Amino acid sequence: MTEANTQPEVNIGLVGHVDHGKTTLVQALSGSWTDQHSEEMKRGISIRLGYADATFRRCPGVDAPECYTVDEECEDGSASEPVRTVSFVDAPGHETLMATMLSGASIMDGAVLVVSATEDVPQAQTEEHLMALDLIGIENIVIAQNKVDLVDRDRAVDNYRQIQEFVEGTVAEDAPIVPVSAQQEVNLDLLIDAIESEIPTPDRDPSEHARMYAARSFDINRPGATAADLKGGVVGGSLVAGELSVGDGLEIRPGREVDEEGQTEWRPLETTVRSLQAGSNDVESARPGGLLGVGTGLDPSLTKGDALAGQVAGEPGTLPPTRNEFEMQVDLLDRVVGKEDDESGESDIEEISTGEPLMLTVGTATTVGAVTSARDGECEVSLKRPVCAEEGAQIAINRRVGARWRLIGVGTLS
Ligand code: GDP
Ligand code: MG
Repeated sequence: MTEANTQPEVNIGLVGHVDHGKTTLVQALSGSWTDQHSEEMKRGISIRLGYADATFRRCPGVDAPECYTVDEECEDGSASEPVRTVSFVDAPGHETLMATMLSGASIMDGAVLVVSATEDVPQAQTEEHLMALDLIGIENIVIAQNKVDLVDRDRAVDNYRQIQEFVEGTVAEDAPIVPVSAQQEVNLDLLIDAIESEIPTPDRDPSEHARMYAARSFDINRPGATAADLKGGVVGGSLVAGELSVGDGLEIRPGREVDEEGQTEWRPLETTVRSLQAGSNDVESARPGGLLGVGTGLDPSLTKGDALAGQVAGEPGTLPPTRNEFEMQVDLLDRVVGKEDDESGESDIEEISTGEPLMLTVGTATTVGAVTSARDGECEVSLKRPVCAEEGAQIAINRRVGARWRLIGVGTLS
């Protein structure tokens, strides 16, 4: 890998209970935002989504795991060599992350489950997130037992055993558990070593049709920009298949809502790729991995304020249909997971009934749907906002339980 080639090649989700140290760990591994390059675009798409890129490096002449670092300088003063750039997805508000994860947007190739050594295992979201990983079959997992600087040896060992017991029989059963202190930067080399061996870069086929899930969209022009300086609309998201290059044609679905004689319909947008930004670099061509910013020829009024968030982009003529309603096979969970003891609402999950509202995440799109018909293990929904999705797409199903939307199951579009 050369220094210039630092497009992240793999997406790693940071999951685990609130305050267990996910953000601190990402910061320790990726350093601060020192790079001012195209700060505008980066700020626009990165912060809310919580993507942070990290380049893992190796000190020459040192054995693994001690050779691994994120610093450019080794302890003996020699220069470290880049090994691989990864993109961590540390979404604030774990519901969003969970729903997107469950919707099969395949934006995660593996996960680091952060568990604090200072609390009993499992805490609510530790359980909820592990269940989500289990449901979607994300098997490449590393467990970071964090905050070991705050406990004595006995507590650390006891907590380690609790983690082992908790993951038994789950998808994380064989995941390595690495004791770390994100804050004191202890054992990060061991953690990188574990990520390198457990979360490989997936094989991808660059000849597949490009497919991108838009998570944000915006207008990067400053107020008062003259017509000559005006830049086209920008779409930020995750390329999950194929390759995208400057000059490529781009279709975006569902597109824009058009009002005509009292009838509204959604029309796909078509444009070209004018610029690409991957991992903080301007590139001519991008592959899946990390967050991608796509400068387009679209009128920026079409992209401002996340207007295209949740939409799907790709080679014209290759995108799935736009659906205003669909039918899905439903797999309900056994019970509501991750509910705190002091929250109201039932823990058992009842069958979906006709007429009830559901919040559905399809890809990166979140939309409310009304159930128009419900049978055993199947239901039909009519959507407030259409989605672009193909048969077989996975859907995260949420129902209002107590004061908030809770995950109740996973659907498969039929
Ligand atoms: P998140 O909610 O999982 O993203 O957790 P944060 O990264 O925001 O961390 C929550 C709090 O725990 C912050 O005050 C951190 O400084 C602290 N923290 C995180 N990791 C460690 C650690 O390894 N040791 C200690 N002592 N504190 C930590
Ligand atoms: Mg955080």
